[in-house]
Amino acid sequence: MTKSEELFQRAVKRIPGGVNSPVRAYGSVTEAPRFIQGAVGCKIFDVDGNEYIDYIDSWGPMILGHNNEQIKDAVIRASENGLSFGCATEVEVEMAEFICDKIPHIDMIRMVNSGTEAVMSALRVARGYTGKNKIIKFAGCYHGHTDAMLVSAGSGVMTSGVPDSAGVPKGCTQDTMLAVYNDLSSVEKLFLESDNQVAAVIVEPVGANMGVVPPADGFLQGLRDLCDKYHALLIFDEVITGFRLSFSGAAGFYGITPDLVTYGKIIGAGMPVGAYGGRKEIMEMVAPAGPVYQAGTLSGNPIAMAAGLTQLKILWEDQDIYKRLYQKGELLYEGIRKIFLEKGVDYQVNSVSSLGCIFFTPNKVTDYISAKTSDTTEFSKYFQYMLNHGIHMAPSQFEAMFLSDAHTEAEIQETLDCIEKYF
Ligand SMILES: *Cc1c(COP(=O)(O)O)cnc(C)c1O
Repeated sequence: MTKSEELFQRAVKRIPGGVNSPVRAYGSVTEAPRFIQGAVGCKIFDVDGNEYIDYIDSWGPMILGHNNEQIKDAVIRASENGLSFGCATEVEVEMAEFICDKIPHIDMIRMVNSGTEAVMSALRVARGYTGKNKIIKFAGCYHGHTDAMLVSAGSGVMTSGVPDSAGVPKGCTQDTMLAVYNDLSSVEKLFLESDNQVAAVIVEPVGANMGVVPPADGFLQGLRDLCDKYHALLIFDEVITGFRLSFSGAAGFYGITPDLVTYGKIIGAGMPVGAYGGRKEIMEMVAPAGPVYQAGTLSGNPIAMAAGLTQLKILWEDQDIYKRLYQKGELLYEGIRKIFLEKGVDYQVNSVSSLGCIFFTPNKVTDYISAKTSDTTEFSKYFQYMLNHGIHMAPSQFEAMFLSDAHTEAEIQETLDCIEKYF
């Protein structure tokens, strides 16, 4: 038995499913998860001494690569003053100023501790600001595990959401309306059916939790126009795309201005941080400035802020990184497309810059329904082959591959060689 297997046996006895977040479980690919000892650059090491090229990157935060020296130094320096005070600190002001100065559509921002919290709070603000209750979300988009967002349903447009999880009362999701990704008419239909009760449309500007599903030309602009027409707020959930597609996220990459943005993952550089921000008159609704209550004992934690701000400064000062990530994405995903073409493999490769995935289906994948046509048994075989050949990817068909600045041409080529051999 490997040490990972041993640890997993102990873990399942004391932690539900053996993991502290379901995405870490290898249930869908019939393996024990690899327990990780450490990581540096684009390499990750498990407790059995195996080395892998990592395409999870902690689900995005490790955009500079693992164990970045500058970030580590910032954390050590900050921790010398104490881990938490539950009081205001200078670094929180610096963080807020840094983001608001650089990102045109953010005048004010509030720190929280996870992407889930950011979304939950942004929805409350949108409802408080508009005085309306309904939220339009898209099937297949993930916005954390807050009650109202645990609706995705597999079959077309539904006007009233049915919860995806036990323990979520119908009452919590009755104001969640489900639209089809990349289908503007499904959105307008909901606006019309809602009797003008839509507070906000929330969207992953690049779908990255049903595999990678890029927005079709005009989709995000269409959402902007519909929100303006019906006086609803447009919320970009940039928990994955923020500071990744460009410094100003998908909003900057596609040139669309949302009213509110949610962040997570990259913003904390590996520490538990989320944030939501937007226009001043909307954000001034938040307590104690306004009537929308939202709080957090450890929010804006000085160690987490030191880590996050250091990473954001590196990204801002070296914006060529976004060109490099784009080029690496081209190298990897175009490389896979080329292999498929040569070998006559009829599968899809979807990608936007550094984010991408293979769908094991001959159908074009543009939304949740088409994503679900992927053959997950095929994925599982592919995943196991890659893992056993030193390539560490998310153990699910419906996750993205995350490239970091630490992945070099050599590792990408090694990955492509491995993919070519598998197919
Ligand atoms: C990961 C994710 C979340 C939830 O963030 P947590 O920090 O895991 O709570 C929300 N939205 C999107 C788009 C995500 O990818």
